[in-house]
Amino acid sequence: SLQHLKAAMDTLSNSLAAADIAHTLHPNTNLRLHEKNGPLVIARGDGIHVYDDRGKEYIEGLAGLWSVGVGFSEKRLADVAYKQMLKLPYYHTFSSKGHEPSIRLAEKLAEMTPEPLTRAFFTSSGSEANDTIVKMVWYMNNALGRPKKKKFLSRIKGYHGITIAAGSLTGLPVNHKDFDLPAIPVHHLTCPHFYRFGTEGESEADFTARLLAELEAVILSEGADTIAALIGEPLIAAGGVLPPPVGYWEGVERICRANDILLVADEVICGFGRLGTPFGCQKYGFTPDIMTLSKQITSSYMPLAAIMLSEPIYQVIADNSEKLGIFGHGFTASGHPVATAVALENLAIMEERDLFGNAARLEGVFQAGLRSFADHPLVGEARGTGLIGAVELVADKPTRRPFAKVGRAGQIASAIGHEEGLIFRAIGDQLALCPPMIITEDEVGELMARMDRTLERLTGAVAAEGLE
Ligand code: PMP
Repeated sequence: SLQHLKAAMDTLSNSLAAADIAHTLHPNTNLRLHEKNGPLVIARGDGIHVYDDRGKEYIEGLAGLWSVGVGFSEKRLADVAYKQMLKLPYYHTFSSKGHEPSIRLAEKLAEMTPEPLTRAFFTSSGSEANDTIVKMVWYMNNALGRPKKKKFLSRIKGYHGITIAAGSLTGLPVNHKDFDLPAIPVHHLTCPHFYRFGTEGESEADFTARLLAELEAVILSEGADTIAALIGEPLIAAGGVLPPPVGYWEGVERICRANDILLVADEVICGFGRLGTPFGCQKYGFTPDIMTLSKQITSSYMPLAAIMLSEPIYQVIADNSEKLGIFGHGFTASGHPVATAVALENLAIMEERDLFGNAARLEGVFQAGLRSFADHPLVGEARGTGLIGAVELVADKPTRRPFAKVGRAGQIASAIGHEEGLIFRAIGDQLALCPPMIITEDEVGELMARMDRTLERLTGAVAAEGLE
């Protein structure tokens, strides 16, 4: 009977929760709160929806971790993975070995990405990719006889991963504090977010000018001969969804070129159509020397990341490897055949269904939906571009004052969101949305309706807790 079924589901669900609390250390989680509240166990997915182990349906408003572009039930990706596992489940790419999926994917990415990028190196995660970029750039500058040119420039609130070098590039205190990071020479520039980092009376253009002047001053004081590269997400995503101010990237590119500093676009979230252009750098009019890709490359059905390099960088690395006998860097899973086969099929689906175009077409309704929350008394800023956005909760709207206890309002909002059937990501008190790229106009409407109900209820809940 239905009652028995429900009881059985409850038992399963409770035993999973107990096991999770007893044995898992959850990434990016408030661990003590988790022990109290237990996990939200997701059991299955369908389109833009996921269902928990009690059968409750949610719109996955963040596409997992900004990544499940084709949605949660793409059978073609399962079929491709299965066939590849039967044919050749694993092979490596060390010592000149290769296999068709990784070769074809490198070729495909060289074709898709902006002109100067010709070469792909594969890893399993964005962090490994950015760590590898740091090492490649160091290797290149050693080969060029400029061993001092090693520092990286990054931005406060930028996110580039959590491994030793990538985590150092990340500009978020919670990823540094008590982890002994940064552990490589990196300078974090001012965060290019006008709402929070613009000063009173400053125009957006003045703000851009100030950031560019800062960049020039840092280069002058540190010495261009000590700075190897500047890395940035075209739009800072995990740091709160922060679109850059007008003219920012054009200026950064000009200054980097003038000082022989490589420009690295971390497109782990912005890549593959998210901003309404194929790659985020194209939205903001700059051309990188190196690009990091991951997440939507496979719609996260398999772990995979790619580093794209320009030909001149590759040539220096190749010359040096000849001298040393080998390019001494690589992972067991570099170019993994199942992951790269899934990536190829995923990119084919994105093309056939014109999902980049879908993001561009729905940008208007999606951003208008978000902006409609700007009038809410707790919303300081509603922002975004393409199919990505966030609302930032504040304690006092006129002065933009944040809540004293940062993150609590975000937690409450998440919990209400879950009740309303919507999963978004609370980054402190910033509520981020980044739905699957297959979303339809009607589904955008439903997502915004659930967000609206969440914010409606949030006002009372925040007041009830006496947050200020
Ligand atoms: N770069 C960016 C821009 C990212 O958003 C992320 C992950 N959110 C990473 C790098 C790190 O990727 P991973 O979690 O796969 O290591």
